[in-house]
Amino acid sequence: NYWSDRHMENCLFCKIIDKSIPSNIVYENDNVLAFNDINPEAPVHVLIIPKIHISTLNDLKKEHVGLLGELVFTAGILAKKLGIDKDGYRTNFNCNDAGGQTVYHIHLHLLGGRCFSWPPG
Ligand code: 5GP
Ligand code: ZN
Repeated sequence: NYWSDRHMENCLFCKIIDKSIPSNIVYENDNVLAFNDINPEAPVHVLIIPKIHISTLNDLKKEHVGLLGELVFTAGILAKKLGIDKDGYRTNFNCNDAGGQTVYHIHLHLLGGRCFSWPPG
């Protein structure tokens, strides 16, 4: 079916989506899931993921653009809900080794509650 075709076995975040691995869910709808990072780098550190398996930004297809827009839109909504919108926050996608990607199911990091340096290390 639709979801099982788009679910990847042995993917940590697909397991979080199907709830075979627990997480602290911050927001969920039919398309996206947001949950707290297990090893937070800031007072607010939420991961926002699509409910279909996409390994990296390199694997995006044109048909995914609406879904990716929804991830970014969700970041803005959650920033307000979590009270970091006014001070500001950091959002980022890491891609492959040099980008610091360790989980190969795309995820948008939403970080807030402290100041971040630029450029990143
Ligand atoms: P990446 O390094 O791929 O950009 O980010 C992966 C993130 O996933 C890391 O910040 C890491 O702390 C988080 N993470 C890894 N395993 C788990 C887990 O089992 N549960 C949760 N909630 N976060 C995880
Ligand atoms: Zn996955």
